[in-house]
Order: sequence, then structure tokens, then C-alpha cells
Amino acid sequence: STQLSERIVNMATSATLAMAAKTRELRAEGKDIIGLSLGEPDFNTPDFIKDAAIQAINDNYNSYTPVDGYVALKEAVITKFKRDNNLTYTLPQIVVSTGAKQSLANIAMVLLDDGDEVILPCPYWVSYGDIVKLAEGTPVEVKTSIDNDFKMTAAQLEAAITPQTKMIWFSSPCNPSGSLYSKKELEALAEVVLKYPNIYVVSDEIYEHINYTGKAHASMAAIPGMFDRTITVNGVSKAFAMTGWRIGYIGAPDWIARACNKMQGQITSGANCIAQRAVITALNAEPSSVKYMIDEFKIRRDLVLDLLNGIEGFKTNIPEGAFYVFPNVSAFFGKTFRGKTINNATDFSLYLLEEALVATVTGDAFGNPDCIRISYAASQEQIIEAIKRIKEVLA
Ligand code: PLP
Repeated sequence: STQLSERIVNMATSATLAMAAKTRELRAEGKDIIGLSLGEPDFNTPDFIKDAAIQAINDNYNSYTPVDGYVALKEAVITKFKRDNNLTYTLPQIVVSTGAKQSLANIAMVLLDDGDEVILPCPYWVSYGDIVKLAEGTPVEVKTSIDNDFKMTAAQLEAAITPQTKMIWFSSPCNPSGSLYSKKELEALAEVVLKYPNIYVVSDEIYEHINYTGKAHASMAAIPGMFDRTITVNGVSKAFAMTGWRIGYIGAPDWIARACNKMQGQITSGANCIAQRAVITALNAEPSSVKYMIDEFKIRRDLVLDLLNGIEGFKTNIPEGAFYVFPNVSAFFGKTFRGKTINNATDFSLYLLEEALVATVTGDAFGNPDCIRISYAASQEQIIEAIKRIKEVLA
């Protein structure tokens, strides 16, 4: 391994993907594992989107696309931003990429220099820290607690800012906490950001439609003064059950979008042509076309909370979006079950995997060592069975 670059040696393996690999391994051994570790809807891509992809193949969409995406797709993204977020972007401000993950990687690569700091309210999505480090930036974690619904306050933000601060990255709805920043909360954060002319915000809104509040989603770029200071990241993986299609996109100040375009021109040459055509259809559809999935997720959220609250030691917030619960399990630390002592969330998550045959993800991966993440992108039967098993092995 001494032949490998420091860059890759220092990078953590994605904990969620590692858990998925471990799950597959145990299943191959014949173990009946219930997977509650993946951030992936268990629905099929809706037929009207699949039909658009089939049509694109038959229409011979097979050549390189413009690096930043087909104009028709960028227009659909503009329509979506206007319709859902009241944001008015223009064509040069949109870049389509190979998943929101690549959108985030582009942003890090074009905005960060060695030593630039990126504020990450914890818990944060597993890849933020490593993407930032890959671009030689320094992640600065801001701890939040379950008592504040895992959200960063304006005072915490202000205290974390230094002369090296370049960006703030956060997701709302949040993976892994399911928390959602209200417009008022975003305004309070924006008031701080606006005091510092060189700080930019990456607002990851990929779970936008998976929102149980009945209230409109709040976008940072729509807060007065923030449009030119925000990069809005979104994609189709979650809301349209299209994780494998790999399409994400940004709306950004045009100098940033141009740089992202230049970056991916040397790295991928642009996203897959068939997936891009299908996403035109997905984004032009009203969000109500996927509401059946959101309704089902809400039923499962309530089910998971209800069942977890029946196990002493689990402390949960009420997630208002996404499809995760992020219980604090520190009440179990130091205890021994079936001869195994649990010292931290990683031990706890591994214990659940080995003894209950239920896959979850340690909160360590998200910058919070007291919690585990449980995904409820699984059927109600699976959820009921999984939590029954968890209860048994903790008895
Ligand atoms: N951002 C957040 C908060 C996520 O949870 C995910 C996927 O898990 C992504 C971005 C990446 O999504 P994509 O599949 O578009 O790369």
C-alpha cells in the first residue's frame, strides 16, 4: 500500500457502502439479514420515467452530451427550481452531474484550496468530510444535539467561523437525522453568513420532497441576499427512486457553475445520456406524481418511532423528512449483552448485525458517536421483524 497516494490511503471507506458489503457477505453465508442501512428507496423507478428512457434508446440518444447536460434537461431543472423553490436560475447556472455526489465533489474541487475550512453541522452525510479532504479542505465539525433536533444554531455557526472558513455544507432534510431547517432557521443562519462576504453555502436538498410537515420546503438560496452565496444541490435518486441512474444537479452562481463544468469536462465528460433524457421527464412531472412513496415513508416513520420507543434506552427525535431515524443509543454503552460489551455506537451497530441480523449504520460515520442510523426504506413487515429482533437481543 506504500505505492498508493496519501490521498487515497487517508480516505475513509464509505461506511454505508461498507455496511452494504458486509450485509451481502453475511447473506451469502446464508444468514437472513434485514437491511436497514441503505439510503435507497425500496420502490421501483416510476413507469413514466422508465418509458422515457426506453424512448431515448430507441431515438438513438447515444452520443456524448454537452458536458454540463442537455439543454432540455437544464431547462427542466430551471422549471423545477422555479416551480418548487421559487428560484430563478439561468442556463449557465445549471450543471448536471453523475449523481449529487459528483455535484458535491465538483464544488469541493473548484472552491477549496489547501487549508480552507468547511463547516459541517453534525451529524452530516457520510461523504461530506471525505470529499472535502480529497480537495485538501479541512472539515470543521459543529456538534449539535438531539435536544435541538440535531440542528446548528446561528450562534454555533458564528462561533465556528474563522478567517479560513470557505463554505458551510448541510442537508435539509438531513441525512442522517431527518431534521429539517425551517425558513426562519435558515434566515437566522443566513444573517450570520451575510456578515462574511467570502463564505458560501452548499445547500443539499436531495430529500426535499420527502417531507412530512405538510409545509413547503425551505431553500437557502431563496433567503434574501443568499442567492449569490448558495450552491443548491439536488438530484433524482431519492424522490424518484432512481439511485442507480446517477443524475444530480446544481444551481449556482455562474462563475461556480462554469468551473464545475470545466472540472467534469476533464473527469467524466458529462452524465449518462439515457439517464439524462429520463430525468427530463421526471423533473417536468409534478411532485404529486411521487407522493405515493412519501405517504408510505410517513407511515413507516411513525411505525419505526412507535416500535423504537417501546425499547428502553433508545432516544429519538421526530424526523420530519428523509427516511432515517437517528436514535441516541448511548444508554447502552458500557453494558454487556450475550457476552459482548458495547462501548460505542460502532459496537452497538455490529452487535445488532451479528446477533439480531439487522444492518444499521454507526453514527460515527456521520460525526456523531452516540447514535446509529436506521433507514426505513424497507417494507413495514421487515421493519416490524427487525425491531422485534433488536428488542430481543437487548433484553
Ligand atoms: N446528499 C445526501 C444528503 C445523500 O443522502 C445522498 C445519497 O445518499 C447524496 C447526496 C448523493 O446522492 P446521489 O445518488 O445523487 O449521488
